[in-house]
Amino acid sequence: MTQADLQATINGRVLVPGAAGYDEARTVWNAMVDRRPRYIVQCVDAVDVVAAVRFAEEHDLGLGIRCGGHGIVGHAVPDDGLMIDLRPMGGVTVDPTTRRARVQGGALLGALDQAAQAHGLATTAGNVSHTGVGGLTLGGGMGWLARRHGLSCDNVISFEVVTAAGDTLRASADEHPDLYWALRGGGGNFGVVTEFEFALHPEPGQAISAEFHYPVAQAGPPMRRWRDLSGAAPRQATYNATIVEQDVALGLVWVGDPDDGDAVIAALGDELADVAEPAARIVEPMSYLQLQIREDDIEGHALRRYWKGHYFQALDDELLDALLARDGSDLPNVSLQAYGGAIADVADAATAFSQRDTAFEFVAAARWADPDDDERRMSAARRYAGTMDRFASGAYVNVLGDDGVAGLRLAYSEEKLARLTAVKDEVDPENVFHFNQNIPPSTA
Ligand SMILES: Cc1cc2nc3c(=O)[nH]c(=O)nc-3n(C[C@H](O)[C@H](O)[C@H](O)COP(=O)(O)OP(=O)(O)OC[C@H]3O[C@@H](n4cnc5c(N)ncnc54)[C@H](O)[C@@H]3O)c2cc1C
Repeated sequence: MTQADLQATINGRVLVPGAAGYDEARTVWNAMVDRRPRYIVQCVDAVDVVAAVRFAEEHDLGLGIRCGGHGIVGHAVPDDGLMIDLRPMGGVTVDPTTRRARVQGGALLGALDQAAQAHGLATTAGNVSHTGVGGLTLGGGMGWLARRHGLSCDNVISFEVVTAAGDTLRASADEHPDLYWALRGGGGNFGVVTEFEFALHPEPGQAISAEFHYPVAQAGPPMRRWRDLSGAAPRQATYNATIVEQDVALGLVWVGDPDDGDAVIAALGDELADVAEPAARIVEPMSYLQLQIREDDIEGHALRRYWKGHYFQALDDELLDALLARDGSDLPNVSLQAYGGAIADVADAATAFSQRDTAFEFVAAARWADPDDDERRMSAARRYAGTMDRFASGAYVNVLGDDGVAGLRLAYSEEKLARLTAVKDEVDPENVFHFNQNIPPSTA
């Protein structure tokens, strides 16, 4: 079988090693990922996806699915296998009357945000606009609107999916409801999603970011106050904190009426200043679209990356002390982002996504350029994040590393895993889709 045979069945392009565009297509966000698929199929429609899935199965090729290419461990790119590159399917169509968006399986978050905001609408998307709708939504999808409108996956009305059998199905509350359940949090295990249908919400598009900065040695008392206030925050506010080197930024992101936001931020500022005067206050009004791209550069491509995440059900004093124990070198950056609100309104059993009682998501993130630093930077990040293990209630599937079943157990309960396995048995009994946080079928 040659490239020409495969190309004859595909409307898009088939790339092989050495072809123009091949290296660009296999390069993903994390520069640690350096794998070489035998074929990259740049699909332009669902028909191409069906042909690529069938070809991979007929020729026993490992199958990876690339949307935004931001999967932390790079499952999208299978060595010597076939990568379906969905990026040519990046379109978003909005119907302002029904407040629905049809989003192709390779779209980036920025395309969704922009198309929806053109009509004064939005749905929950992540914090960096070059992330893919595909991977983010299938694992859950946390963003600044989640406390008001739920996770990205909670806003999916239906999915168009190409299954391992090469069938094209629609999964919704009424059609293939088990598959619909599994696709909302179960990742890329169940097929290739060629279209997401999202519910949109009226959103005038005004936001404010507020940060109160403290040196780490003085951050304990204000951080406790910030934590105490977070539980009563209105849903327009997402409490967040970052630690970069020895600087701690405590604050929130507001999306909604700016006058209300100013009042909430002023009250938070007063409370924090009561405990300790911050070294700097940075309060920035911006549009929602500006908010959605403000981390794009700092979280840009081409660097080597290592992330370790935890879910916390509470930020108790001991946890905060451990978080602020920033001794040693090469420490990763830290982010904390509040859950709650509409995320917790959804019953845990309603979706594969789990741990809706999470109070804060923690991510320790290291980035560096020199491959010689890999081991040193990763072990420093692991060591620091490891000091937080004992406080964790689990982890977000979309920030898991390559930890196999141990990772899955952090993301899902036994009961959820059993139900996910039952759906896998139904739609992918041969585990064709295994380059992901893999939920193997029971026969594997
Ligand atoms: C810079 C950055 C910022 C992030 N910010 C957030 C955030 O704010 N909120 C949040 O919740 N998460 C966030 N994440 C985590 C993010 O959700 C995951 O990394 C996610 O996997 C990225 O999806 P992708 O489509 O870009 O990645 P890809 O690497 O293209 O895909 C990851 C996996 O998802 C599956 N997949 C992707 N598309 C499809 C599809 N159409 N059909 C079937 N399977 C598919 C495949 O299994 C694939 O291996 C962030 C990650 C990064 C790197």
